[in-house]
Amino acid sequence: MTNLIIGAGLIGLTTALELLHRGQQVTLIDSGQSESMGASFANGGLLTPSMSDPWNTPGVHRHLADYLFGSNSALKVRWGAIPSLLSWGPRFLWNSRPSRYHAATVANYELGIYSLAVLDELRDRLALSFDAAGQGTLKFFRTSSALDAAMRVSGHLRDYGLEANQLSRDETVSLEPCLTPIADQLVGAIHYPQDQSGDALRFCQSLADRIRKLGGTFHFGRDVRAVKVRGGRAIGVDLGGDVLRADNVVVAAGTASPGLVGKLGVQLAIKPVKGYSITYAPTPGLRLPAIPVIDDAHHAAITPLGTRLRSVGTAEFAGRNLHLDRERLDNLTAFIKAIYPEIATPETLATGQPWAGLRPVAADGRPYIGAAGTPGLWINSGHGHLGWTLAAGSARLLADLMAGRPPEIPAKPYSIGR
Ligand SMILES: Cc1cc2nc3c(=O)[nH]c(=O)nc-3n(C[C@H](O)[C@H](O)[C@H](O)COP(=O)(O)OP(=O)(O)OC[C@H]3O[C@@H](n4cnc5c(N)ncnc54)[C@H](O)[C@@H]3O)c2cc1C
Repeated sequence: MTNLIIGAGLIGLTTALELLHRGQQVTLIDSGQSESMGASFANGGLLTPSMSDPWNTPGVHRHLADYLFGSNSALKVRWGAIPSLLSWGPRFLWNSRPSRYHAATVANYELGIYSLAVLDELRDRLALSFDAAGQGTLKFFRTSSALDAAMRVSGHLRDYGLEANQLSRDETVSLEPCLTPIADQLVGAIHYPQDQSGDALRFCQSLADRIRKLGGTFHFGRDVRAVKVRGGRAIGVDLGGDVLRADNVVVAAGTASPGLVGKLGVQLAIKPVKGYSITYAPTPGLRLPAIPVIDDAHHAAITPLGTRLRSVGTAEFAGRNLHLDRERLDNLTAFIKAIYPEIATPETLATGQPWAGLRPVAADGRPYIGAAGTPGLWINSGHGHLGWTLAAGSARLLADLMAGRPPEIPAKPYSIGR
């Protein structure tokens, strides 16, 4: 079997590896100059089944004014993006009904736990190195009411296997001593021991090496204009003149996926939601945190990645604009200064590498994985804020479906026509 994969980010690369491991031929095409130049470049590095809940929480509509007018709101809707949200926006709100929200949370959690098991297996089997850490994540709180509310949310997933341990202030600081300078601001935390972390870019680079060794090929700097269909079957892709042919075409193009399959009558409700990160190389000799910390109140996180620290957060509906907004970056700088005042020295801050990327967010909060209706056409896209967490499992699930094998977890929650 020959396969063309559109997109060499986390999702395209993991899918390629799964297919190669099954003895198939794979070619990846990406408009970027190398692998992982899109949303997978400098994401938060969090592998968090604990964060499986979609962003359209019940009652999200009550905060719309904040999202439109608030400059410090964690989620921001830019006026210019509103026309592009006219059909997606109402679907996003409709899916915030408690039953839909709960179903999406469980679906993401089950895929997330599966995905981490697949990732562990790949890391061990292939000796992948990507600054991986396995001490879980720590979500800290400044008020007891916020901590209690978060424990209730985690409680829904306990029935499905989530481990969420409530910690006192002292226990929080003993797990992550670098939080000591702000201990008096905290009431406690939740430790999610099943979570992990690691650098998605380094993972993608290791995967690309492996893919080449297994005979996979890459076409970088090539823009797929359309999926070619003949006689009711996908037969390849149009690169604007050249046509590349294959038995299967897999669309893993992140936020560009809906445009590629929309002409074929496949409607993917995916929109770009911009986020920012700043990666620091703290001055050698400073004591660094070992565990990623998440500030629920500000929807921001700081992730240790080897000798680096990454401050990440914010969600902006701003169309496909990748401009680095100074105010949003200043919020992230203020965040690391507030959480780790002893590490965020002027020297450390001067090393900051800012970045913005577009999360491919589905209106119902879960990815699209499976057959697209046209024989030979497959989709793996729309993983939103969880693309790193869900990548390895999504790839194995899709490869099983493509092989006609029963997948190891139910595929229906992610099916294209759900
Ligand atoms: C700020 C931020 C923080 C995040 N933090 C986390 C986190 O901590 N944990 C987590 O699990 N997830 C996180 N995510 C989400 C995660 O990074 C994404 O869900 C994931 O990277 C999506 O991967 P992808 O392969 O679908 O898309 P991408 O990585 O964007 O890859 C798609 C590729 O398709 C290519 N492409 C598109 N159109 C075409 C075309 N027509 N022809 C050829 N090539 C094309 C693009 O060039 C791109 O390389 C974060 C995202 C952001 C932006």
